[in-house]
Amino acid sequence: MSKILKINGLEKTYTSGSRQLTVLKNVSFEVEKGQTFSIVGPSGSGKTTLLGLCAGLDQPNAGTVELCGHDLNQLNEDERAQLRNKEVGFIFQNFQLLPTLTALENVSVPLELQGDATAVSRASELLEKVGLGDRVNHYPSQLSGGEQQRVALARAFSNRPSILFADEPTGNLDEETGEKVIKLLLDLNKDAGTTLVIISHDLDLAARTQQILRLKGGQVLTNEPTTAI
Ligand code: ADP
Repeated sequence: MSKILKINGLEKTYTSGSRQLTVLKNVSFEVEKGQTFSIVGPSGSGKTTLLGLCAGLDQPNAGTVELCGHDLNQLNEDERAQLRNKEVGFIFQNFQLLPTLTALENVSVPLELQGDATAVSRASELLEKVGLGDRVNHYPSQLSGGEQQRVALARAFSNRPSILFADEPTGNLDEETGEKVIKLLLDLNKDAGTTLVIISHDLDLAARTQQILRLKGGQVLTNEPTTAI
């Protein structure tokens, strides 16, 4: 099995004024290509920070992240952005849709920026797939939380990522809508082989992935296959 993500000795310290807060300490783990992997832990344990480092959205103070065979420390900002555009999907906790763009445009514009001539038709197809074929011209403010999260999902799938990072993808959704979103994510893994790395408070969701890493106080408490729990 090949590893799509290798994290080794990761440390992250935030500095505000004269205060320093170390939020990740010596974090190491690996994710197999095609695996479903969750990261759980109490609020403030460093999960979001860790996900941002894994996806190359931020840089560690020490340690290495190897993503899709590339050591992120060896890439400059442009190269990291190129790698993200090509290989990575990211779902943020609060959706992060652009309020002035319609659902369709939220998905098609990033594709257009990457030079995809089929951006609009691909965006419509993806929105259809997540069950929003009749909402393409709605703005985010005209959509429910669950609908906004499904637009965010369509956008995250749009570049056919090898690996998808999702930060509390069901955190702001009711149970039924959350279930729809989980199903879309798990189907993507099954149908396209996309590796999933999901942060969740929801232990039931974590139990549906193959591996669970528990973080506490910025350190790895356990990292076990779900079958062993
Ligand atoms: P979790 O996702 O597990 O709730 P976070 O990674 O969001 O944890 O946060 C871990 C710790 O780092 C928290 O104490 C948080 O306040 C702090 N933190 C997160 N982002 C920043 C930042 N940009 N600047 C300073 N402190 C931060």
